Amino acid sequence: MNEFNDQILSAKYAELFVDQHVLKFDFFEFECGDGWLGLLDGTMFLIKKNSEENGVRIKLVQVKEKFGRLRIYFQGGDEYTRTVVDMAEFVSEEICELCGSPGDYHKAHGWLQARCIEHSLETISPQKPDFAWQKHGSLYAEAVKAIFSMFKQHSMSWMQSPALAFGGGFHTSC
Ligand SMILES: [Zn+2]
Repeated sequence: MNEFNDQILSAKYAELFVDQHVLKFDFFEFECGDGWLGLLDGTMFLIKKNSEENGVRIKLVQVKEKFGRLRIYFQGGDEYTRTVVDMAEFVSEEICELCGSPGDYHKAHGWLQARCIEHSLETISPQKPDFAWQKHGSLYAEAVKAIFSMFKQHSMSWMQSPALAFGGGFHTSC
């Protein structure tokens, strides 16, 4: 992620980061493309809110792209945190890591990547950063909250069997 975006997210969710990272770089380094900004913003909003409201101790250790998917490593947290993180990692497959447009998870240029059609065809430089991700982040957080309230007590088991919850319509990639 470019440093500007690293710094914005680091400042917005400062209490979620391990101190040594912030001391070393002055900000947390997100080791993934800027297309996942909105997804990360929405995810960290939910994690921070849960931490504040329920006194859950949580520190993000590393956030990176691995095998084309978002990976979030953390210390502490609770079942809610785990589910929110699982969902973000799952959803990242469908969001272009470079520009944030709807994308797909496929092999391109020899690597597994989450890319929109445009970015899967060529190695195009990412779009200039804009602030649409802030809107995407809050919309995403709202959507996750709505899903959790829909499944209520089953929400925590939802991630283990999304295919069952949605009548077999989802693919899983274990
Ligand atoms: Zn794209």
